[in-house]
Amino acid sequence: MSSLQVTELFSLTYIAYDKAGMITEISTCAAKLFNLCTSDILNDLPHLQLLNEDYEPVRTDSIFIHPDEKHTTEVGISVDNSTVIWMKLDFYPHENKVYVRFSPIEELIAIRRLNKQLAIQDPHTGLLYRDAFVSKIKEIGSYGTMCCVRICNYQRISEVWNIGVANLVFMEVLSRFQIEFEDATFSKYSTDCFSAFVPIEHTFNIERLYNELNAPFNFNGNSFYSNVALGYYREKEHDDHEISLNKAEMATFDVLSEKLRLVEFQDALAKQIEWQNKIETALRASLHSDALHRDFHIAFQPIHDTSTECLIGAECLMRWSMDGKPVSPATFIPIVESSGEINKLTLFTLSQIRRLLSELEAEAIDSGFYLFSINISVIEILDINFEKKLLATLAQYKLTPNKIKLELTESALIDNFNFVNEVLMSLQRHGFIISLDDFGTGFSSLSYLCKLNFDEIKIDRSFVTNVVKDNRLQSVFNSIVSLAKNLEKPIVAEGVEDMEQMIYAKAKGVEYIQGYHYSKPLPLTDFVNYVVADKSSYLHFDS
Ligand code: C2E
Ligand code: CA
Ligand code: CA
Repeated sequence: MSSLQVTELFSLTYIAYDKAGMITEISTCAAKLFNLCTSDILNDLPHLQLLNEDYEPVRTDSIFIHPDEKHTTEVGISVDNSTVIWMKLDFYPHENKVYVRFSPIEELIAIRRLNKQLAIQDPHTGLLYRDAFVSKIKEIGSYGTMCCVRICNYQRISEVWNIGVANLVFMEVLSRFQIEFEDATFSKYSTDCFSAFVPIEHTFNIERLYNELNAPFNFNGNSFYSNVALGYYREKEHDDHEISLNKAEMATFDVLSEKLRLVEFQDALAKQIEWQNKIETALRASLHSDALHRDFHIAFQPIHDTSTECLIGAECLMRWSMDGKPVSPATFIPIVESSGEINKLTLFTLSQIRRLLSELEAEAIDSGFYLFSINISVIEILDINFEKKLLATLAQYKLTPNKIKLELTESALIDNFNFVNEVLMSLQRHGFIISLDDFGTGFSSLSYLCKLNFDEIKIDRSFVTNVVKDNRLQSVFNSIVSLAKNLEKPIVAEGVEDMEQMIYAKAKGVEYIQGYHYSKPLPLTDFVNYVVADKSSYLHFDS
């Protein structure tokens, strides 16, 4: 037989053999297909080659055994080195013989092979998927450098142009890597990310590679910046490649969070990521409504008037602890922001202001002239329902907008200037006071500042705390103060830590002071005591 004819597929193809493996019966079709006849011994048929699905030869006697029960197996059969045909073999033991029926399964095998291929290899880029990638590196038997490359602006390119262009950029970056290292192994990680294993034989300059991947390129007369992040891990001998891949990926992940784009994996990074994950999980639990009041609290930092030294209000600062240890808001606030739940904390802050006012009332203190500053994140101000939610919550706690200062950082305002500026105007109309936080750190342009709807400038503490000893800080400080004066906006100096700084700020005409000189941020009850003490000093001062 040379090849399988379609008509023959419909004829019954069978053989029977005895315990010695000798063919005792054979259908015409089988005889023709396999070039066999009765009395042939199955274990001794050099013209027949049997193969498993991986195209490895299998011995005839391991297939044509004497089974006790019916069973089925699949093999590829090649007669006289002809094309392999795939067959399902049904074995029926009967008396001292075994009947074998052969059915063709070409299509089934082809589909299975395709599926297998699709599971190991991306059909568009030809890159291996993760498992196949790791297996292939294991086969190479070398150690090397594991890299993970992410095209950070893939999504943006896809939005501005289209997905086709984004894929071209992906392929371009990939081919730049491939040209550099022809013997590297590559893997597709996600639409915008691939991994590469470069064997140890190469001592390469990773910075040069990184710059090469980031070099701009042209398509149809348009210039593209690929904006590539590269995380990598240099393996030691006997390192587990799968773990190395995780490490390279972690470095890339870190690249994204830190805005650094070339990062080598270090053990400290793994610890940091573990800690970050722990915080995220714990925060998620704390943000549940029933845990919110238990796990978060507000610290109130007094703000004083420089001319009278009287307390005029406080900044409300969020506090949260994990395992009993306080975590800095600089760490947890960005995580809450990225979870989209920061507004929950802002509204919670209002509930705590209400609590504070009730406690002050209980102490017979007229809190009517105190102002409370709350920090507002960019994400909140971009939410079209922000103002509505804020007003509804104020009403719920019987608070009025003219008692609330909203602190926003300059950078938050500049990015979406027109939209944000309208929101600010509307908030001002309701009576809120808009305070520009961390002023001086954002390099904002003066033309923006003239158009921006705000009421007060908070000079950043980096210009305040060492102002007395540092001439350069003094000139920045003085410029900001005169700018505020020209714009006719009052100034709050934060981070005033001692009397000298306080006197300096007052002498320059700063209206309000916040800082350790007066007090650190205080828990609610301590703040009530502070107010009580201040009230008496105020009365004393007045009399
Ligand atoms: P910020 O708005 O600039 O707050 C002032 C920070 O300076 C506070 O840090 C405060 O404790 C600290 N500080 C005040 N006076 C002094 C001083 O004299 N010396 C020194 N060294 N530090 C002083 P904190 O509480 O760690 O808050 C850090 C940042 O976290 C805040 O910076 C603010 O951007 C953010 N944050 C805090 N609470 C919230 C919140 O409820 N919502 C939002 N969106 N952000 C918040
Ligand atoms: Ca602030
Ligand atoms: Ca600040």
